[in-house]
Amino acid sequence: MLRILIAAAFLVELIIPGLAQDTSKVVIDRVGSTAFLQVRAPSFSQLAPQQKALAYWLTQASIAIDPIIYDQLSAYGLQQKRLLEEIMAHTGAIDSDARARIAEFAKLFWANRGNHNDLTSQKFLPSFTFDELEKAALAAQKDGGFQSPYADLPALPQPAELKRELEALRPSLFDPAFEPMVTAKSPSGRMDVVQASSNTFYPGLSLAELKDFQEKYPLNSRVVKGTDGKLVELVYRAGTPDGKVPPGLYATFLKKAVECLERARGYAEPAQAAAIDHLIRYYQTGDYAEWVAFGIAWVQNDATVDFDNGFIEVYRDARGAKGSSQSFVTITDNKITTAMKKLAADAGYFEEKAPWQEKYKRQSFKLPVVKAVETLIETGDFSVTTIGDNLPNENEIHEKYGSKNFLFMGSKRAIEEATGKAATAEFASDPAEIERADKYGIEASDLLVALHEVIGHGSGKLSDRVSAGAQPFLKEYFSTLEEGRADLMALWNVWDPKLKELGLVSNQEEVAKAMYDNAALVALQQLRRIPHGDTIEEDHERDRQLIAHYIADKVPGSIVQFTRDGKTYVHVADYQKMRRGVGMLLAELMRIKAEGDYDAIKALVDKYGVHFDPTLRDQVLTRYEKLDLPSYFAGLNSWLSADFGTNGAVRDVDIHYLNDPVKQYLGYGAMFDRGLESAKPF
Ligand SMILES: [Zn+2]
Repeated sequence: MLRILIAAAFLVELIIPGLAQDTSKVVIDRVGSTAFLQVRAPSFSQLAPQQKALAYWLTQASIAIDPIIYDQLSAYGLQQKRLLEEIMAHTGAIDSDARARIAEFAKLFWANRGNHNDLTSQKFLPSFTFDELEKAALAAQKDGGFQSPYADLPALPQPAELKRELEALRPSLFDPAFEPMVTAKSPSGRMDVVQASSNTFYPGLSLAELKDFQEKYPLNSRVVKGTDGKLVELVYRAGTPDGKVPPGLYATFLKKAVECLERARGYAEPAQAAAIDHLIRYYQTGDYAEWVAFGIAWVQNDATVDFDNGFIEVYRDARGAKGSSQSFVTITDNKITTAMKKLAADAGYFEEKAPWQEKYKRQSFKLPVVKAVETLIETGDFSVTTIGDNLPNENEIHEKYGSKNFLFMGSKRAIEEATGKAATAEFASDPAEIERADKYGIEASDLLVALHEVIGHGSGKLSDRVSAGAQPFLKEYFSTLEEGRADLMALWNVWDPKLKELGLVSNQEEVAKAMYDNAALVALQQLRRIPHGDTIEEDHERDRQLIAHYIADKVPGSIVQFTRDGKTYVHVADYQKMRRGVGMLLAELMRIKAEGDYDAIKALVDKYGVHFDPTLRDQVLTRYEKLDLPSYFAGLNSWLSADFGTNGAVRDVDIHYLNDPVKQYLGYGAMFDRGLESAKPF
């Protein structure tokens, strides 16, 4: 829960759109508005051999569960997936024009785990015809495709069988009115939210029929009507080896995942191995108690090679009960994590230097546990657009044992690199700004994240009146205030010599200026996210506009706006003046939070953070449209390959970065055709 989606809210523009390297290396493919990004994990090379072996088997477990989500999102998902993959694996026999259009569709299909857009939930259609698809499928079959079963789907060795399959899939692929949405939260017509959704959590049932039904397996079952008319749960589980618990739905995939997890546990440290044991039992039995036991062990373990794997988020279910199958494997990002630890150790220093009144300064610190990570793999319903995540979701776990806050730095950097350079070139007010963003942009944005998370949110002391928390006092303005306060702590402290002393900045002056350039510009750039109306609703967007507009108004000569060739620019005219404004607003926000002063925050946010000029927004939109930036992102995972000794032990693991999405997805699909220790996909 509490995912931070880059497309929805977080930092895209708060981050300096800088570029450490050539864009073409990050964006390796593009279909329409969807970009395929290579997500890198440079820390992998620093792992010990045992950690690499662990990472290898955990990523294999992630690949094993990947097909499940296709079936969860549509009853036709797995058949469609097999069809497209068989065609893509045998493209030689297909004429080139149809081949290109089928390839585009296949890539979008994989990127969205089916033919509904991941963010909008809406169905998308192919640009090829049914006849073209049939011709391609038959050619692929002639070339050796469809000859062996795929997971639980039977082989289709005869043309007549394949034609029947295609006919059965026709409406699901070509009819826009058939299963138009994965999750229909406000359906039109007579269907309710469950009936109008294509997902397979409650096939054939209505919301009314589910009303009084008590599930034993709320996260991990499909509910159907039995032959006697009563509702039954089909549990997602592999079954136990002794046969006492029979296999259930998705047994093929979960069994494979269990095999991989069993190998992974041999390379895990004891605490993590204990967590893996519970996950294995959970996948075998489907028992919720095992899932909770896994969560308790998992949340208390902070291994360098970390992972999650399960039926986790419930957003896909309009009823909010069923978990999407999803998994990730990460490595701790040493640079950022070290920076955050150093900042945490010196939290008292930064508190003392904070620009607010003494009475709001705290003496003792309980700082948040934040894990900056690089992603090795994300499968199932995890996507590269999630750059922050707070897990686990179960209240009974995090209330007692806390939670892990993941910052997915690899995803964040990939998206910044993919969108940054072009936007900077268009909106920067002078060449120095472009050069600075290019050289120090990523460093500034990484540092901002570390400062925001560690000494931002954790700082400050509340008055006795609001000592239980300021939220009930500040109500709908609380989040805007708190995000703004954390950003301002970063902007305030980026100039502090302590950062240099701690070795957290390369060129402090330039990094600080890059951070300020972006904080000033963001209020302009973010208008592209609000194509309609003239007010900002989202908290992060409000906080960023509040900062830029407050400072420009209160400290003349700090941030200036001007027009050149009919285009509006924002320029930091004097960085130290801007810092003075940062200090003024930070002191005031701290006072408001500490005193729970609702009237003051309402006045500030309503004046500076909510309203904008729609003609300016239209100008920004036009400028962005010309840049033709991607709106959707799909991450290409790193690919780990292992060398095995005679006894099946991992001898060595190598990391590869793919430059072709087709290779990745066909490689994943091939897992079910081969033995576990012959993993040489390409
Ligand atoms: Zn925050």
